[in-house]
Amino acid sequence: MAVTTLLVCETTRQRLGDSGLGELAACLWPVVCQSCGRLLGDEPPTVVIDELNLVAMASLHHLSCRLPGWNDSLIVMVGSGQYTTFVARMVLLPLVATDGSTETCPLMLINPGLECVQLQRGRDGTWQVRNSDWLARGELARPGRPVRIGVPADGVIARATDTSVAVVHQVPPFTVYEAPADELLIDRVRTLGGVLVAVTPTLNPGDFAVSELHAALAHPSTLALWAGLHGAHRPRRRRFRLRKEVCVLHWSSEQISVGRLVGQAPGRLSAGRARAWAERVISPGEVGSLTWQPVREGRPDEAWRARGSPAHEHVLRRHPAGWNLVLVCGQAAGTRAETDNEAKAWAAETLQLQAGISGLTWMPGPSMPGMFTWYGIA
Ligand SMILES: [Zn+2]
Repeated sequence: MAVTTLLVCETTRQRLGDSGLGELAACLWPVVCQSCGRLLGDEPPTVVIDELNLVAMASLHHLSCRLPGWNDSLIVMVGSGQYTTFVARMVLLPLVATDGSTETCPLMLINPGLECVQLQRGRDGTWQVRNSDWLARGELARPGRPVRIGVPADGVIARATDTSVAVVHQVPPFTVYEAPADELLIDRVRTLGGVLVAVTPTLNPGDFAVSELHAALAHPSTLALWAGLHGAHRPRRRRFRLRKEVCVLHWSSEQISVGRLVGQAPGRLSAGRARAWAERVISPGEVGSLTWQPVREGRPDEAWRARGSPAHEHVLRRHPAGWNLVLVCGQAAGTRAETDNEAKAWAAETLQLQAGISGLTWMPGPSMPGMFTWYGIA
């Protein structure tokens, strides 16, 4: 679980705001103190922000090692990354091919630093988490760019042993991420001639739920690429295309809607803070450009509709597990569906027509009496 209690200084509180602090806490895990290298333990860790121009590094420390603070002196007091815990883990990701058949794809999930996260200052002056990994530095991967399975990225290779898979950057600093893998995983790596690599600050690869995995793959700060297996023959081109996409179907007797999941925020955020977070996701650098209305009159705690440009409507909805921000692809009166199957059929048709998305695998999402949510994995 990510950090829930952080000791921060007043400057950090003012510069990040409540939603920024929430985002920061969701991307930090208290494993090792970044000053002394010993375990952080159960005491709330302190957050130190080292700012260098438009970029800042947030790191966790013992209170006895470093006081909370925002250091903009341009003198970085700790060698960055010296004690950072990175976690790499191999998992099998189910994929749906264009003909509707399913296959599994080997995925190496990497969080390059559990106790550190990089922040970047936007044009509006707010600070946001960004991916600081070598994939981004080397321009090997950019967030949101679709990955073609089996089409290797330049500058990165995968190596497989009998018990592990390693992903190696072929230019300085020659970073290597290695993770244990069982026979089934290694067999898939050899069959497909490579491994899908996803680097994310939003997930601890050592400890997560399936729903968190899909959210992390769809998160704007996640980077992904295909690392070709060293020494493998040129792999045959796959018919798969990883969409990294989760669709959300929501229906009740009053309304049915379907769209793309844009992001998820912790449920502890108030409606106001959740809207501030959503605005930063929807239109970075233009805070205040959206108007919000409750989806249902008199039920402001349930869901909000953002209207900015008429072509793009976003809905922010509170579930027991957190806030879902969805870019709406289609909506209709609730009379269109009386059962889950009718709702899913309407959603599949709408997504195919409006967004060209097909071959969804549906999973039940958080539902309440009379209101149903389904996640469609594309
Ligand atoms: Zn320490």
